[in-house]
Amino acid sequence: MSNNKIIDLRSDTVTQPTKAMRAAMMDAPLGDDVFGDDPSINALQSALAERLGFEAGLFMASGTQSNLCGLMTHCQRGDEYIVGQFAHTYRWEGGGAAVLGSIQPQPLNHQLDGSLALADIEANIKPNDAHFAKTRLLTLENTIGGKVLPLAYLADASALAQKHGLARHLDGARLFNAAVAAGGDPYLAVRDITRHFDSVSVCFSKGLGAPVGSVLLGTKDFIQQARRWRKMTGGGMRQAGFLAAAAHHALDHHVARLADDHALAKRLAEGLQGLPGLTVEAPQTNIVFADLVGPKAPGLMDHLKSRGVLATGLYRLRFVTHLDVDAEGVDRAVRAVRDYLEA
Ligand SMILES: *Cc1c(COP(=O)(O)O)cnc(C)c1O
Repeated sequence: MSNNKIIDLRSDTVTQPTKAMRAAMMDAPLGDDVFGDDPSINALQSALAERLGFEAGLFMASGTQSNLCGLMTHCQRGDEYIVGQFAHTYRWEGGGAAVLGSIQPQPLNHQLDGSLALADIEANIKPNDAHFAKTRLLTLENTIGGKVLPLAYLADASALAQKHGLARHLDGARLFNAAVAAGGDPYLAVRDITRHFDSVSVCFSKGLGAPVGSVLLGTKDFIQQARRWRKMTGGGMRQAGFLAAAAHHALDHHVARLADDHALAKRLAEGLQGLPGLTVEAPQTNIVFADLVGPKAPGLMDHLKSRGVLATGLYRLRFVTHLDVDAEGVDRAVRAVRDYLEA
C-alpha cells in the first residue's frame, strides 16, 4: 500500500466493488423488476429468504427504504412502534416512519449492551384506549452500535412482543456481523437471530461490500404489501439485476470474511488503548468507539485528515473496519492518533 493512500474508517459503506464482484455484475441476466422479470433480483430475493428462513424477500435501493417499507407494512396511520433512542430507524432515517408513514415512534433509552430493557418495553405498550396511539411493533437492531444483542435477550424480547400482540421487525443492516461474531457457520448462526422476527432488513452496502442494495424479508403476504410501499417511495427499479448480482456475490463470498474486519477492529482498539485522554471501548464486531477528553480533543479530526486518515466524531469517535482496509492501514491510523496525542 502506498503511503499516501487514504485510510477511510468513516464507515463500512465506503468500499469499492471487487474485481470478481464487478465481473458478476457485468454477467448478470436482467429484466424489468417492476414486472417481476429480473432473474438476478429474483435469485437474490429467494436465496436470502431461504438462508434466513423467510417465505419471501424484496430488493430495495437502501436499508432506509427497507426499514421504511417494513414499518409501513406493519403499522397503519396512528399506530406506534417501540424503538431505541439511537436506533437507525428512529434517529438516522430522517424521521421517515413518522413523516411518510404517520407512524408514531416511542423511543426508549438503550442499556449498556445496546438492548432495550424488557421492563421499559412493557411499560411503554399503550393500553387500548382512545387517548393513545396503538402500539403495534417492536423494532430492534442487530448489531447495534457494533454490539451483538444476546440470543437469550432476543428470545425474551420476542416472547414479550408476542404476548402483547406486537409484530417484531429487525433492522439487520449488519446482521451478518452479528452472525459471524457468534462463531461457527455464520449461515447457521444467522438463523438463530432471524427466527425471533416477523420481518428483517439486511444491507449489502455495509460490511458485505456491495455498492448498493438491501433486502426486506417476511411472509409472502407481508412482502406483497411492502411491494406497494416500495413502488410509492420510488423504489420500483427496472434492470437493477446489476445491483442484485453484486449483492448475491457478497452473500456468497463476503460473509465469512467479516471475521477479518472484526480482527482488524480489535487490532485498532488495542493500538489506541491507553493513549492519553482516550477511552476505547472493546469492539465486538467491526466498529471501534472511543471518547477523547482534554484540550487535544477538538483538533484530532483535522490532524487525522492531514495524515490521510478519515474517521467520524459526531457523538463519539468512530472507526469502522471493512473490505478496503488492511492491517497496515489500521497501524497507520493508530500511529496518526498516537503521534498527535503523545506530542
Ligand atoms: C446503514 C444502516 C441502515 C441503512 O442505511 P442506508 O444507507 O439507507 O442503506 C439501516 N440501519 C442501520 C443500523 C445502518 O447502519
